[in-house]
Amino acid sequence: MNVNITDPIFHDEAKATQHIFNMRWPDGEPICPHCGSTNTMVMGGKTQAGYWLCRDCRDKFTVRTGTVMERSHVPLHKWLLATHLMAASKKGMSAKQMERMLGVTYKTAWFLCHRIREAMAPGPNEGGPLGGPGGIVEVDEMFVGGKGKNRAFRDPAPKKIVVSLVERGGHVRSYHVANINAKDLRGLIVTNVDRASHLMSDEAHVYTYVGREFHTHGSVVHSRNEYARGVDHSNTVENFFSIFKRGVIGTYHHMSEAHLHRYTAEFDLRYNTRNMNDGERADVILGQMEGKRLTYRRVGSLAA
Ligand SMILES: [Zn+2]
Repeated sequence: MNVNITDPIFHDEAKATQHIFNMRWPDGEPICPHCGSTNTMVMGGKTQAGYWLCRDCRDKFTVRTGTVMERSHVPLHKWLLATHLMAASKKGMSAKQMERMLGVTYKTAWFLCHRIREAMAPGPNEGGPLGGPGGIVEVDEMFVGGKGKNRAFRDPAPKKIVVSLVERGGHVRSYHVANINAKDLRGLIVTNVDRASHLMSDEAHVYTYVGREFHTHGSVVHSRNEYARGVDHSNTVENFFSIFKRGVIGTYHHMSEAHLHRYTAEFDLRYNTRNMNDGERADVILGQMEGKRLTYRRVGSLAA
């Protein structure tokens, strides 16, 4: 971990506010989050410290307005520290540890962590398809919390399956799915992967038909202990899963079905920004708190 926790932005509320201001409005001029106007004025008076008034729509705003921080009472310097810790921790950071490090209640820490994960999620149509001519995209699935067949009791296994698509040398996209079937997997794969790619999967039947829609389709037969033949391997997606699994086992212990999509966003973002330092990664997350997808796309393409 590489967070300089002596940085004043993590202790001094005025400096933290300025840091967020500079990130949101790099030209030094606040933009009204309600209507987009730059015709604003600083509001006077003690109760309105930190507020601007928009002269066009007559609405008030702060640096938090229109971000995931908006409805929170947690001081901004704690938001910044929490974001930096989440950016810097390869296996994630539990709400329990966040509670101790920030000096907030567990409930507050838990909400804070999930809101930061929301900011880590990409936009709905982010970044275009993975792969392309000459590109290799690996797909695989992972069971969170063990496979159903290994369960001691007969109650149905929770439906916690993560499907990840990874472009070799590029980005990962992970999805929580309830079932593994050819129809749903095909939907995920064709909407995320350029058909000119070489698709790489294991030998499971669910990949047979969708594989034919791609330029080429390679598969490794795990049941014959066959893990790699030349370019036909799935080491990239398996490496990603091994980091994710260390997060499940070492940090979070349990990821509920309802929140699994937020954890996948968290691990995806750290993987996709793996060539950045922790401060740059934290700034990507802060930039996305407002939904600045352009910023992420720009920085994200540098990371590949
Ligand atoms: Zn306005």
